[in-house]
Amino acid sequence: MRPNSIEARDVAYHLHGYTNPRAHEEQGPMVIERGEGVYVFDNQGKRYIEGMAGLWSVAVGFNESRLVDAAQNQMRALPYYHSFSHKSHGPAIDLAERLIDMAPVQMSKVFFTNSGSEANDTILKMIWYRSNALGKPEKKKVISRLRGYHGVTIASASMTGLPNNHRSFDLPIEGVLHTTCPHYWKEGRDGESEEAFATRCAEDLDAMIQSEGPDTIAAFIAEPIMGAGGVVVPPATYWQKIQGVLAKYDILLIADEVICGFGRTGKMFGSNTYDIKPDIMTMSKQLTSSYFPFSAFMMNERVYEPIADEGNRIGILGHGYTASAHPVGAAVALENLKIIEERDLVGNAAERGAELQAGLARFADHPLVGETRGVGLIAALELVAPEGAGDARAPGALGLHMNRIFHKNGLISRNVMDAMAFCPPLIITQQQVSDMVDIVEKSLETFA
Ligand code: PLP
Repeated sequence: MRPNSIEARDVAYHLHGYTNPRAHEEQGPMVIERGEGVYVFDNQGKRYIEGMAGLWSVAVGFNESRLVDAAQNQMRALPYYHSFSHKSHGPAIDLAERLIDMAPVQMSKVFFTNSGSEANDTILKMIWYRSNALGKPEKKKVISRLRGYHGVTIASASMTGLPNNHRSFDLPIEGVLHTTCPHYWKEGRDGESEEAFATRCAEDLDAMIQSEGPDTIAAFIAEPIMGAGGVVVPPATYWQKIQGVLAKYDILLIADEVICGFGRTGKMFGSNTYDIKPDIMTMSKQLTSSYFPFSAFMMNERVYEPIADEGNRIGILGHGYTASAHPVGAAVALENLKIIEERDLVGNAAERGAELQAGLARFADHPLVGETRGVGLIAALELVAPEGAGDARAPGALGLHMNRIFHKNGLISRNVMDAMAFCPPLIITQQQVSDMVDIVEKSLETFA
């Protein structure tokens, strides 16, 4: 790193999340300067296919001028307003109505927040509030899953089921429990069918509810397909079985659609793909294509009614953020949803997704590949050490190394330990999917 270079200044002044700080001091940043469609360019002018759409986010690609115009127009008309004390504005009202219309099940109200973490954090508060309203103060626990990802605030990080989000942070908080991760390839037992594994996942959940006491469990939160935990596609009957257990005990179902929402799985929501009937749904990322920090959750009547009663009893619903329902974010979201609809990006995700999954499946027998998996335009290639390599490599080392090779070959992926995740913009073309798969092939061939 040259002294005073942009890289050196990053190391000097910028602490990065999800980065080893000491390793960063040594290697410095990858500085991205601009984007165009599915590509981003670094400050050396090198082009990469952004195979992760940033962080599972940029549905419409990296230079969509309609979103820029929507933001600019809204900034000129009303750059900021809030939603406290009965105040509202057109973009928030239009977006709330639009989201309720799009919902996979009948929903009642939308609450706006600014990140996925904040949305899930708020959901937990709302659930506690609701249980108090119902005169069930003991019904406060939430169950999530090992390797699930729900964010990084104190409550949402607690619901996240990944060790690095808990270790040394004194998390999880009390009352947040984690049940089995539905990853057959990793968690399935010898001789156990995928169907039997799904049954066992549901039985594990049932047993946890029984042992904690069904009256103490308020909600179960899960992503339709786990993203940040390594792209975990559940067995076909998993969701049906899990929903059967929840229905037995009057436990709310929260579908965290922060990654799956708005087309990623080839249907509008992951809940459509798996016939999930949530009481609450979390949305962010592809809602604005992450051009603006924005998130929301919607709830059905069963959730809303007691909350409204409690707010009425107290005199106010004592929650909300300065930037809740930010007009610029809402305007960007509305335009983004229009683009997704007009260009049938959900249909494109289904078609290009099938090509991506088939392309990756070709490597299933490669000595470095343990499993390929995915649905629509979300996928993973799980790396394993070749036979005879021993256990010399630390977990995640294969993934980190593969990322370096991908970068050299012009592809950005994200390694979740040794699973290489792919989640490209929904605008990706057939040729670009094929280019991605070619880079993966070349990278596997040159892996050393
Ligand atoms: N929920 C899911 C499913 C996510 O994938 C993420 C982020 O990756 C979050 C919540 C947290 O969102 P944010 O990073 O905007 O706080």
